[in-house]
Amino acid sequence: MAETQNAFNVPLKCTPEEYKHFVEPAMSEANKSNFAGALDVVSNGLNAHPASEGLLFLKAYFGYKIADNMSNELGSRPPAIRSLENGVLMVDGTATTQMLERFEEIGKVLGDSDSAIDELLQVNPNSQEVMAFKGYIEVKLQKLAGESRNMRTTFNNSPKIAGGFCAGCKKNISFASQAFVFRKISATQMEVWHLPCYEQKSSLPN
Ligand SMILES: [Zn+2]
Repeated sequence: MAETQNAFNVPLKCTPEEYKHFVEPAMSEANKSNFAGALDVVSNGLNAHPASEGLLFLKAYFGYKIADNMSNELGSRPPAIRSLENGVLMVDGTATTQMLERFEEIGKVLGDSDSAIDELLQVNPNSQEVMAFKGYIEVKLQKLAGESRNMRTTFNNSPKIAGGFCAGCKKNISFASQAFVFRKISATQMEVWHLPCYEQKSSLPN
């Protein structure tokens, strides 16, 4: 409890009953790093006490922590899109699709957190601390939207320029599930290869 309060200097306004039945059990889950469990407890509490400032803040805070953990987990995965050499981009279609789905899930969790903060601001519009926390959430949401947009643009627009057929074997490419390579051949032209076809070509002597 003290730790959460100190983290953002937000006084948690709760009745003793809310504290005993919801805040304490939720904090005990949070101390075990079970933020999903903590969020469940707090959400149940809000069903019974919808205007509780303390519970609204904790809902936003635990949502933020869950989103943070999800982002960290994504950051530890191998990159779904990476540069191989100048003008050559390798894309793992399966990993990109999964990452875009995960971005959406994180965005949803953060959106719920943001809604809880908005409700809290209706009850307590002048809290600088709550405003500051909303700022954290919005920065994270913007960063996520930017990354997601960049990835989606590369993933969706490049096939429009490069076409859907491998420059090596001339067969169709399944962008959602195969690994492939985009290669710039001029300022406006790009070709696409299955990753194995590209690797085979690269290993041949020129
Ligand atoms: Zn091919």
